[in-house]
Amino acid sequence: MARLVMKFGGTSVASIERIQHVARLVKTEITAGNEIAVVVSAMAGETDRLIALVDEAKAGNPDVNLDRREYDAVVATGEQVGAGLLALALNAIGVDARSWSGWQVPIKTDNVHGAARILGIENQALIDGLNKNQVAVIAGFQGVDEFGRIATLGRGGTDTSAVAIAVAIGADRCDIYTDVDGIYTADPRIVQRAHKLDRISYEEMLEMASLGAKVLQTRCVELAMVNGLVLRVVSSFNEPPDPNDGTLVCDEDDILENLMVSGITYSRDEARVNLLQVKDQPGVAAIIFGILAQQGINVDMIVQNVSRSSTQTNMTFTVRESDLDRSIEVLKASQNKIGYTDLTSDANVVKVSVVGIGMRSHTGTAQIMFQALADKGINIQVISTSEIKISVLIDEEYTELALRTLHSAYGLDAAEV
Ligand code: ADP
Ligand code: ASP
Ligand code: MG
Repeated sequence: MARLVMKFGGTSVASIERIQHVARLVKTEITAGNEIAVVVSAMAGETDRLIALVDEAKAGNPDVNLDRREYDAVVATGEQVGAGLLALALNAIGVDARSWSGWQVPIKTDNVHGAARILGIENQALIDGLNKNQVAVIAGFQGVDEFGRIATLGRGGTDTSAVAIAVAIGADRCDIYTDVDGIYTADPRIVQRAHKLDRISYEEMLEMASLGAKVLQTRCVELAMVNGLVLRVVSSFNEPPDPNDGTLVCDEDDILENLMVSGITYSRDEARVNLLQVKDQPGVAAIIFGILAQQGINVDMIVQNVSRSSTQTNMTFTVRESDLDRSIEVLKASQNKIGYTDLTSDANVVKVSVVGIGMRSHTGTAQIMFQALADKGINIQVISTSEIKISVLIDEEYTELALRTLHSAYGLDAAEV
């Protein structure tokens, strides 16, 4: 017998039929003797629809700032519907179940509305439910702040809710049911020859999630890693999975073979900024990045070109695409203070990254990447590296070509498609 959290994403509960199928998956685990808590997302497309309603409601009145607390009050309803419908479907097949909203548990969060972090979960009611064999169906993506207001955890946040619940009730594992049957070497919707990994380390998954693989929310992987909780990513579209199905996200010591590269990801949410002819003297970088930091703008990749002239240099860096306009505005307002001659920018860029703990022990990983891209005539604009990843910024139009090329170059292509 195991204590498990089963998490179901939007496509897994997209219709009443799919919810009924999910209810059968839950029943199978219970019949097998396991203790189950369920965490559920909004039906597919629902969160987007709610966000569009919020945008519509505030439009036309430029004086009204978007109150993130009301945004949260609206968008959190999607998960509440999902939880209620799944509890009903479970009851209908003879499984005792009840729904829980985040505030009812309660799942306590900070008050950064729209991107809140979970601070703690009161587990007593959930444990009581498990003890009387009642399945708790918990609405993901949400909690309650210290002022009693509903707060949401950012897009994809139900993954994080599920891991936090699993930790709070001392679950043996958290199963993330989704529309793919595991973690692949690249997004299988783009790289047809991607293959499923049986296991991936927390560290690699953390890098892949933060570098664009939206299959798991970054914070969920972080939380699982810190608490040593094993995650299993598995499909909800099949019949009840076999114990060996899916991908385990686990400690690197539990993985036998460390490939040089385990996964390739991309992120389109990038924009490049160039500041031309910046004074090449101490303190200039501190001024530029200080101005951006003050505005809460995160800078990701940075290069400073070595200039022939000893007095000037060019500074290139990337920000999120959604921060580009604001970045340009504050940098232009500080042109004299920084002392550059011209500012150019480009939002048609993508960051492509290769990730693998094997990089620590294999040499030549970067060379393979640069050569493969060069052979296809793809120009690299910016490079950044860490111990287990290499990222390059390239023209967005080459995204798919770059992903497929790198996937082959690192020998990751599945034998047959
Ligand atoms: P859910 O609604 O279940 O939370 P998501 O859409 O958030 O599902 O995540 C699943 C999707 O993640 C898949 O459909 C797939 O296209 C995408 N994805 C991106 N990178 C990967 C990867 N490396 N392995 C598997 N899926 C990936
Ligand atoms: N429904 C939310 C979203 O679409 C949370 C989630 O599905 O994880 O982002
Ligand atoms: Mg998701």
